[in-house]
Formats: sequence, C-alpha cells, structure tokens
Amino acid sequence: MLFERFVVGPLEENAYVIADEATKDAIVVDPGDESDRIIEYIRDHGLKVDAIIYTHAHFDHVGAAGDIKKETGGRVLIHRQDLEVYETSKDQAAIWGYDIDETPDPDGFLDEGDEIRAGTLTFRVMHTPGHSPGGLCLYGEGILLTGDTIFKGSVGRTDFPGGSLEELKKSFRRILELPDATKIYSGHGPETTVGMEKKTNFFVNEFL
Ligand SMILES: [Zn+2]
Ligand SMILES: [Zn+2]
Repeated sequence: MLFERFVVGPLEENAYVIADEATKDAIVVDPGDESDRIIEYIRDHGLKVDAIIYTHAHFDHVGAAGDIKKETGGRVLIHRQDLEVYETSKDQAAIWGYDIDETPDPDGFLDEGDEIRAGTLTFRVMHTPGHSPGGLCLYGEGILLTGDTIFKGSVGRTDFPGGSLEELKKSFRRILELPDATKIYSGHGPETTVGMEKKTNFFVNEFL
C-alpha cells in the first residue's frame, strides 16, 4: 500500500493519498489545499484516482476538490448530511478570512457501511457525526481516517453549524471500540492508535 500524508493550507490540514502499489488504483482523502503537491505525487507514481473522499466538508478540507477532480477525473464523494456545509464552504472560508476555490458538485454520497475500493484495498465507511453532521471515517487495512472527529489526545469542536456534543461522544466511543492496533490518521496533527487514545486521550473520562 502506498500511503502519503500532505500537510496543507494555513490550518495545516492533513490530506492523504492511498493507493494499491501494484494496480495503481488510488483514493485521495480530504485534499484541502496545495493541490499542486498532491497532483505531482499522483503523477509521479502513475496513480489512477477513482475517488476523492471527504471526511467532512469544512473549508480547510475541501478547498482543493476542484483542482484534484479536474486533474484526475476522480469522483467527489461526501456524506449527504454534509451537503449544505459543502455547498457553503467558500462562504464559511470567507467568514474566517480565507479564500478557497468553489467546490465542484459532488458525484455521489457515502453512508454507513459503504465500501470504498482501490485495487485490492478496501475501506468501510463509518458515519461519525458530531464535529459536523455528515462526518465520516474510513476504516480498513489496519488504519482509520477520522477527519476531525478525533485527534491525538483530543477531539474535534462541536460548535460549528450542525455540530453535536452528544453525537461526537457516540462517534468517539465507536472509534475506541476498534482494535487497539488500529492506526488513526486525523484531519490535523500526528498519527496515533486506538490503544494509545484509550490510554491518553483527554476526553476518555468524559466521553466513555
Ligand atoms: Zn472540521
Ligand atoms: Zn479540519
């Protein structure tokens, strides 16, 4: 498996490219900015991008959707409950003083239990609302991509439109039920594991 993380944009958002090394089939997760770097990697490795998947539609995550879609032909997939967030992401960015490209229409919607394939790699969609209504995680191949639902030592905010502390608690519990060895790759900050978060996450006492 090819796995590459790109820290992009002013909010240091994590974008990921994941590919089957043999077949070159790839997915891109949360390309939020600096599309040139991501596209260069995709080209250098001769990857075929089938899907551009958003863990949620906050502006720091979706800003490069147009560029990556245009360059790779990949389908933009989000959870339906984040459609409103997605369609207003440029306005949200402006409120915070940032300028992002207009997001292209999504090509499809993902929901709990859906499977994403890239060659022989398989990832299952978990709907994990709380930080945003259509938040999702991708779980498979021993890793979990969580967006801003959980971070190393912390969790995502719930005070954005559509956020819910109660939902976030449920999503947090579901994540910590996964095998301890599962590697967590978040929307910001370094990687961690489920086992490590069970021991050290600041919110374990409050949320479990
Ligand atoms: Zn977010
Ligand atoms: Zn974020």
